[in-house]
Amino acid sequence: MDNEIFESILKITEKQDSDEFSLSIVATLAEIIPDSVVALFEYCQFTTPPYQCITSLSIEQQDSDKLRYLWDIKLPASSHQYIRDHYQALTHLTEYQTNDDRYHVFIPIDIEGKVVFGLEISSLRSFREKLEVLVAITKVCQNFYAILSYSERDSLTGLYNRRTYDNKLNSLLKNQQSSQLHHYHPELEQETRLLLPNSTTWLAIFDIDFFKKINDKFGHAYGDEVLLTLSQFMQQSFRNNDLLFRYGGEEFVLILEPVPFEQAVQVLNNFKTAVAQYKFPMVGHITISCGFAKISKKDHPKTVFDCADKALYYAKEHGRNSVYNYELLLEQGQIQHGIEEGDIELF
Ligand code: GH3
Ligand code: MG
Ligand code: MG
Repeated sequence: MDNEIFESILKITEKQDSDEFSLSIVATLAEIIPDSVVALFEYCQFTTPPYQCITSLSIEQQDSDKLRYLWDIKLPASSHQYIRDHYQALTHLTEYQTNDDRYHVFIPIDIEGKVVFGLEISSLRSFREKLEVLVAITKVCQNFYAILSYSERDSLTGLYNRRTYDNKLNSLLKNQQSSQLHHYHPELEQETRLLLPNSTTWLAIFDIDFFKKINDKFGHAYGDEVLLTLSQFMQQSFRNNDLLFRYGGEEFVLILEPVPFEQAVQVLNNFKTAVAQYKFPMVGHITISCGFAKISKKDHPKTVFDCADKALYYAKEHGRNSVYNYELLLEQGQIQHGIEEGDIELF
């Protein structure tokens, strides 16, 4: 194997986290093709257009032989335009030239037969002689990414799993915030919430009401169907920047990107109402309860989760099919810090 390919693959596959892994592929390709702009796109079937530019990079050669890495650089307009017009056809490696004399290559990344990511490399100089190297690297990465991503996601719903929540909530939060601040895409204008004053990140837990009864009445397979449909419904209802986890059996965690309190209440209540109105095939109507709490920088993921869980417990005790906020319940004296009535821990 060519030494250059071998070294690159070795460096990329050292990453144990799918986000770092993606950044590492972008950096490697940008190092191989000098004077280029490399962009990584992720597909999401529930947005318009159904993809988002996750990051981009250009490496500048400085006088002293030093390299300057320009992350999140603006993509050439020709790249945006071409991808917007042709994304449905970009299911295989595509080379194209645009009117601004740029040479582009688009490499789709396929996981289990579905295009999940796309890498776009563009430059004012042709790099056709490097195509073979690029293809070799992305093929190996594609397989490795599939394994990494499989271990981070829940097999039934495809949402992040509990292990991912525990391991990388902090890094996901960082990415979410920087993406909200820096990744403005005119084509995604409706997707991007304005960062309003008093915005904070929120952690919400959703728990299906009386789910055990659904299993008992219709059987486990129909219960699974509800979990799957509900998770798809969540992906459609929340923004790309909001993070979704299947935390336990019928419990889901949502990390809402920074918004003011009133907006968080509205978004969560709208979802709760939409679920109650939706008629699930076979099972009919279900309801969910939700508790949510503020995430501040110093919070440990476990502490925030416990706060949101207290608000969820309150919802379960007060009629279900409702949304409660931990901080507001505290302020109103409905719950106290520490041990609540009925929340006595033995160990
Ligand atoms: P509550 O309103 O208080 O939340 O009541 P509940 O019945 O939803 O809660 P409980 O915790 O008593 O029961 C949760 C049920 O979820 C029990 C378990 O059988 C079911 N469950 C957990 N994981 C799965 C799964 O992967 N598939 C299916 N079908 N059911 C699951
Ligand atoms: Mg539960
Ligand atoms: Mg439940």
